[in-house]
Amino acid sequence: MSSGILDFFNKGSDEAAGRGDDVLRVRLECLVQFIYYLFLALILFKQGVNTHAMVLCVVTLIQILLFINTYRSKSRSTRMVFISCMGLTAIYLSGVLGMASGFQYFLYVALILLLLETHITFDIKIFLCTGIVLVSIILNAVALLNTFNYPLDPDSAVEARVRVLNELCLAFNIVIIGMSYTRHQVEAERQLYLANQKLKLAADTDPLTRLPNRRAILDVLEEIDRDKDSTISIAIGDIDHFKRVNDTYGHDAGDEVLKNISELIMKFMDKKGYCARWGGEEFLLVFTDTNGDDAYMVLDNFRRRLSEAVTEYDGTKIMVTMTFGLEEHGFFQTTDKTIKTADTKLYTGKDTGRNKVVY
Ligand code: GH3
Ligand code: MG
Ligand code: MG
Repeated sequence: MSSGILDFFNKGSDEAAGRGDDVLRVRLECLVQFIYYLFLALILFKQGVNTHAMVLCVVTLIQILLFINTYRSKSRSTRMVFISCMGLTAIYLSGVLGMASGFQYFLYVALILLLLETHITFDIKIFLCTGIVLVSIILNAVALLNTFNYPLDPDSAVEARVRVLNELCLAFNIVIIGMSYTRHQVEAERQLYLANQKLKLAADTDPLTRLPNRRAILDVLEEIDRDKDSTISIAIGDIDHFKRVNDTYGHDAGDEVLKNISELIMKFMDKKGYCARWGGEEFLLVFTDTNGDDAYMVLDNFRRRLSEAVTEYDGTKIMVTMTFGLEEHGFFQTTDKTIKTADTKLYTGKDTGRNKVVY
């Protein structure tokens, strides 16, 4: 039952929040104002102040219409009508019932709601703020300078009841506005964080192979250069005669081979360290907490399995081999130097028959 009511209030609110509209807040505000105006109208009817009570009935009706309207798409205009209605009713009630009960404070609630509107420009906000403050000054001045006979006796129990009603309604408004603002602030920060993470991932990921790109692994290498407290081995691998694959089966087939090899490398390096697409058909493998001997054992084993792996493209089975240059990273040198040594070893491997790990 309660979840049904919650669903009813929340309907479409997430989607609206995405557009910057807080539909849930407007619905709750309409509900609070509806109850408030209705109670006020009943009190006035009971006191025989029928004309003002009738006006409040109309305002109550407007709250229902606005509430219904939030289930359609015009939430911005709904909010503006709601704010105008709240402000004008506050002025009207302050004028006809006096300032003692605090109707004028709703002008400031309307002001806060206006300030929270993102589609209103700063200049217009300043203009509206000045207008509302001026209206408030005029209302106070009129109340001070004139001794009207207001329909409700300022010292009566009825007046006290109206004051409590005003205070309660003000409190609800402040809670709703505050909660809505906080909720959106937190949500906006979360969305920004996620968007930043996505951007970072996109900037760090090679679009073809989904492996980290050179830029991303350079960050890791920088970290290793700063924090020299574990044994690291670095290998560079290059696909053998890859140009032939492109020339024989086409560039798209070459891409498919690259994707397949990348996937195998990614799986192989899982929990062993880091890997990246270093360039065209070259890959960098960083073995953390692994000395050169141990890295050689696992890498040579992997190289053998790689040479047996098949990439299927358009019904054709393509097989490739890879040559690796491997070097244990010395504490007293930079990763740049280690990579250069591994690269030299890779070329030694190319010159001495390919499909091998040179260590
Ligand atoms: P080696 O064994 O000496 O490494 O020979 P190789 O043919 O692999 O080396 P070479 O440097 O002559 O050629 C590399 C080829 O890799 C040429 C280039 O077109 C291809 N290549 C680089 N990046 C990509 C890519 O993203 N997709 C495809 N399909 N081919 C690529
Ligand atoms: Mg090659
Ligand atoms: Mg190459």
